[in-house]
Amino acid sequence: MSNECLTYTKVLTISSRRKFELIRITDEVIKAVRESGIRNGLVLVFVPHATAAVIANEYEHNIVQDYIEWVRRYVPQEGGWRHNMIDDNAHAHIASAIIGPSRTFPIVNGEVIRGTWQEIMVFELDGPRYRRKVIIQVVGCK
Ligand code: ZN
Repeated sequence: MSNECLTYTKVLTISSRRKFELIRITDEVIKAVRESGIRNGLVLVFVPHATAAVIANEYEHNIVQDYIEWVRRYVPQEGGWRHNMIDDNAHAHIASAIIGPSRTFPIVNGEVIRGTWQEIMVFELDGPRYRRKVIIQVVGCK
C-alpha cells in the first residue's frame, strides 16, 4: 500500500466578462485533485488578486444575482472611498477583503468533500478582466 505524500499545484487562467460575475470552477478543482493522485488531504483554491474572491455555495441563477446584489448594497461603488481617488475600485478591494481570496476543502478517499449545494466559484468584483489566475494547491497523501 502506497503512502506517498506530496503537494501538487495547478494554475488556471480564466477571463471575466462583466463587472461582477460568478465563475464556476468546481470541475477544474476536482480534475486537479484527480491529477494529483492525492486521496486524502486538502485542496486550497486561491486567487492571487485583491479585487476577486472565492466562495463555495449554490450556483443557481437567482442566488448568483443575490450575491452580486449583496455586494452592491453593502459595498457601494460610490461610497466616498478614499482609494477611488487612485483607481476607482475601492468597493472591489473591500468586498475581496471581507469575502476572502481562498477556500479550502477536505479530500477523503479521493473525493473533494462538498455539500450538495456547494459549487466552487471565483467572484469577480472588478471585471471584466482578461486574465485572472486561480491557484489550486492539493496537499496530502496517496
Ligand atoms: Zn485598486
